[in-house]
Amino acid sequence: MRIFGPNELKADVQDKGLCVGCGACVNLCPYFKNHQGKTVMLFPCTLEKGRCHAYCPKTEVDYTELSQARWKRPYDASPLGTHDGVVMARAGEGRVEGRVQAGGTVSALTAFALREGMIEEAVLTNREGLVPVPQMVGDETGIYGCATSKYTAAPTLSEVNRAAREGIRNVGVVATPCQATALALMRENPLDREDFVDPVSLVIGLFCTWALDTRKLIPFLESRVDVSRIQWMDIPPPPAEVFVLDLGNEEIQIPLDEIRALVPRGCLLCPDMTSEWADVSVGVLEGEPEWNTLIVRTEKGRALVDKAVEAGSIVVKEMPAANLEHLRTAALNKKKRAVARAREENLLNNTDEGERAAFRMDPSVVEELTGS
Ligand SMILES: Cc1cc2nc3c(=O)[nH]c(=O)nc-3n(C[C@H](O)[C@H](O)[C@H](O)COP(=O)(O)OP(=O)(O)OC[C@H]3O[C@@H](n4cnc5c(N)ncnc54)[C@H](O)[C@@H]3O)c2cc1C
Ligand code: SF4
Ligand code: SF4
Repeated sequence: MRIFGPNELKADVQDKGLCVGCGACVNLCPYFKNHQGKTVMLFPCTLEKGRCHAYCPKTEVDYTELSQARWKRPYDASPLGTHDGVVMARAGEGRVEGRVQAGGTVSALTAFALREGMIEEAVLTNREGLVPVPQMVGDETGIYGCATSKYTAAPTLSEVNRAAREGIRNVGVVATPCQATALALMRENPLDREDFVDPVSLVIGLFCTWALDTRKLIPFLESRVDVSRIQWMDIPPPPAEVFVLDLGNEEIQIPLDEIRALVPRGCLLCPDMTSEWADVSVGVLEGEPEWNTLIVRTEKGRALVDKAVEAGSIVVKEMPAANLEHLRTAALNKKKRAVARAREENLLNNTDEGERAAFRMDPSVVEELTGS
């Protein structure tokens, strides 16, 4: 993996519209800030190699290297990445009151991890109006206060950097795939800093096909609804093709075709639908709005899920074969689209010469995904 500095980060990611505002470059220094969903560089900085560049999920991410470091094996084109099981899941009885997105598995697992001492704090994503706001919480009320999906790209990882800087440890993070990629990069201590301490002890990944740009979504929705009335939003799985807004006493549906223009360009180059670097990953389940799909990936994830099932915090059932097949197809298609597009736009490079890349992937994997 090639590591450069803030100027390359600005030129290659922010100026090219690839930034997905994940917050991995924020709170490392005074220069990068996220304001209302957009990450900007406030002052010039001449550092030749910086953590901002090394942590960014849109610069020179070497999938082979990262996979070797995380899974001790090369990255391949498998749709769901490394895992040891997929089930359907939902929260058990007795949780704190409050709305969740689907089955509530993410909030239930986060709350259970906190109760069991597997984590001491959780970095989650709340919202103020339509602006996603990272939040560190240390109790179940805080966890359920952050429940539900904010379909905007969120600077969640700025709060992980703050935790690291302030000596807060044993943090659980709920992360989209790009955020989980940045976390995996961070946790490898890519600049070999002697003062490095990993503040993260658990990553619960979310599935994600794309997110929306907060700066574009706000005016788009303001021209159609009173945004202060939005209580909940949803993008149900296919074939629905709508963005649903719950306004309390009224539900509005906006065709997805109308909001696709609000997706950041960086999402179109994202090969990961299921948060492949997380300990467990959670998404919706087609045809079962009160359940989730749950992928277990690591030993830690397995221990969390097994104990949570035993304690009744979550309920799991066998995943229907048809759902699993749809999930694999959707995840593989996302990889194919991203790799084809990166190659087309000259953002896929495996050598140390040439253009700086958005990501690097073994040519045999690229061939398998693109057919050439
Ligand atoms: C941008 C985005 C796109 C998604 N796309 C898909 C998809 O294509 N297919 C699919 O199956 N599922 C997708 N999901 C996941 C899905 O919406 C649910 O989050 C997931 O099924 C968990 O449901 P739950 O009931 O367990 O969540 P809850 O228990 O309600 O918990 C939701 C959690 O998500 C976190 N969160 C909310 N918004 C964000 C955000 N923007 N960034 C980071 N964390 C956030 C909250 O902190 C909370 O911990 C997407 C989620 C997001 C945020
Ligand atoms: S994608 Fe994340 S790390 Fe990269 S420039 Fe944007 S906010 Fe920073
Ligand atoms: S599509 Fe990829 S880059 Fe975009 S928000 Fe989702 S995980 Fe991040």
